[in-house]
Amino acid sequence: MVPKTMKAVVVHGIRDYRLEEVPVPQIGPGEVLVRVLATGICASDVKTHEGYRVWGSEEIPAYIEAPVIPGHEFVGQVVALGEGAGEKYGLQVGDMAVSEQIVPCWQCRFCKRGQYWMCQQHDIYGFKKDRAEGSWAEYMRFPANAINYKVPSDIPPEHAALIEPLACAIHAVERGDIQLGDVVVIAGMGPIGLCMLQVARQKGPGLLIALDMKPKRLELARQLGADLAIDVSQGDAVQRVLDLTDGYGCDVYIEATGAGPAVGQGLQMLRRLGTFVEFSVHAGPVSVDWSVIGDVKELNIHGSHLGPYCYPLAIEYLRNGVVNGGALVTHRLPLEKFAEGLEIAHQGDESIKVVLIP
Ligand SMILES: [Zn+2]
Ligand SMILES: [Zn+2]
Repeated sequence: MVPKTMKAVVVHGIRDYRLEEVPVPQIGPGEVLVRVLATGICASDVKTHEGYRVWGSEEIPAYIEAPVIPGHEFVGQVVALGEGAGEKYGLQVGDMAVSEQIVPCWQCRFCKRGQYWMCQQHDIYGFKKDRAEGSWAEYMRFPANAINYKVPSDIPPEHAALIEPLACAIHAVERGDIQLGDVVVIAGMGPIGLCMLQVARQKGPGLLIALDMKPKRLELARQLGADLAIDVSQGDAVQRVLDLTDGYGCDVYIEATGAGPAVGQGLQMLRRLGTFVEFSVHAGPVSVDWSVIGDVKELNIHGSHLGPYCYPLAIEYLRNGVVNGGALVTHRLPLEKFAEGLEIAHQGDESIKVVLIP
């Protein structure tokens, strides 16, 4: 039996997150109700908690619509199916299921062209009151417009909570257009950078280089397939990459740090005609020498956002071990300890992925 109320974290404002007893969502036709089995803490959750970006600034309008339940990395067990939802998604009560982080409107020019991840309305779970409430709760509703998948029961739920960040990593690697034998640099060995590393290995790079400043993350990068893991705080990482490539530079640079200096570093490290993938979310504007992009190197600058069309492959990679979920989930906490979880994720020296268990 589904209870009437549930525990949920509710975002009221910057650093104002409260554990509350709220109504369990009601579902309508085409909708799915899941009991949340595991839900991750994303770097964006930390940034949202600290007041960056989504709350708006002089440059950008506010994105978040609070009060709202946060959380966009999750897996749940289906407890109820609205009319038609079981047939549409191949789901039965009792199955594990995941929903893509964006709930498309299916009405805007992007959605109509199949570019749903750029939906103009842009409802991402955990940021939009009522329309797309998130997963830091005991139960969660997948709205009728959502894109849902069954998750095989042999993936542990805490690994399945990595499907969302892994889908983002797969998309970013695809945006890198990696060719056989390329020298690929991935900057930032957080959970998504470590996923990118394992996915990029599938592309047959000639040399796969990981960058970070945290020793534990660099060590894990080596274990998970980096040919070389460079501590950018020790000496000149740009020069090391140039030395490894006869002075040309890397072919592909994927920026997944969230740190401004990593952008200029990538522009310097890339060879002429190389490809730069900007994935990470920065706290504010970043300044670089734009002439490097055109006049000096004629670079390809590719943005990367979310994980469109990547969820089925993300599920498969976690199931078949191409991506090692067990190596990435370092901390498990009950939902009640979300504040501690945010702090552990924020600090990041000892943790990779922090997962909450409602
Ligand atoms: Zn995220
Ligand atoms: Zn749309």
